[in-house]
Amino acid sequence: MHPMKVVIDTDRCQGHGQCAVIAPGVFAVGDDEKAHLLLLPGTEVPGCEEPTVDDAIAICPEAALSWMPE
Ligand code: SF4
Repeated sequence: MHPMKVVIDTDRCQGHGQCAVIAPGVFAVGDDEKAHLLLLPGTEVPGCEEPTVDDAIAICPEAALSWMPE
């Protein structure tokens, strides 16, 4: 699997934070009650975090997370 970036749709995100529980190294909910990436802007998800990001994408109740299409 090559390096991939994850996208947060902040219009969909309701800030409940399941993503931050599952992948606390990648997502955090901000004071604006939206999920944010803890990665530097434009950075790929580290390979070791790809499975947890997959889980976060699957569990997000608002379908706000997705892998960025190449
Ligand atoms: S799980 Fe989805 S809706 Fe909840 S904070 Fe994360 S991105 Fe937002």
